[in-house]
Amino acid sequence: MVKFRCSFCTQKISVNDEGKGAVIACPTCDQSLIVPGETSLEFQGKVVLYPGRGQEPVNQPLRAALVPELARLMMNRLVAGIMSQRRHLLETQATGTAQIVELEQRMLRLHEQHQARMQELEQRAASRDAENNRLRRENAFLTRKLAITGTAEPTTPPSEWRPGDKLARTMVAE
Ligand SMILES: [Zn+2]
Repeated sequence: MVKFRCSFCTQKISVNDEGKGAVIACPTCDQSLIVPGETSLEFQGKVVLYPGRGQEPVNQPLRAALVPELARLMMNRLVAGIMSQRRHLLETQATGTAQIVELEQRMLRLHEQHQARMQELEQRAASRDAENNRLRRENAFLTRKLAITGTAEPTTPPSEWRPGDKLARTMVAE
């Protein structure tokens, strides 16, 4: 069992021996901490880390013993910093990936719209060609008719004929 304090909130923490050296989240403040290799001097009963009024100040040898402790505290802060940077990087990467996906989808949509528009234009051109051909044939027919009869009767396109139209004309002519 290793006992130590969270270097951020000073919460007392106990971890099984298997947890030595592992990175854990403080149960109180959720900061990332490295579990030390051994119980802190404070919990070994060798030193009072925070001496109260009237108590002897920490003497020189104990001060030296505290150096690794302080190094560990600084290391913990460093780890917390790296962890938060890493989290930030991952988030940035995720955002970047999402943006690329969105951009690809937008380009795909544009491409599809462009293709649909091209298809529409092609179809319109094709039907215009068909219309031109029809007009050309009609024109040729009228020209032949003019050459034969010498008169070009105004013709109504078949689509504009109504039932009974021919009959009405015939009656007027008679
Ligand atoms: Zn904490």
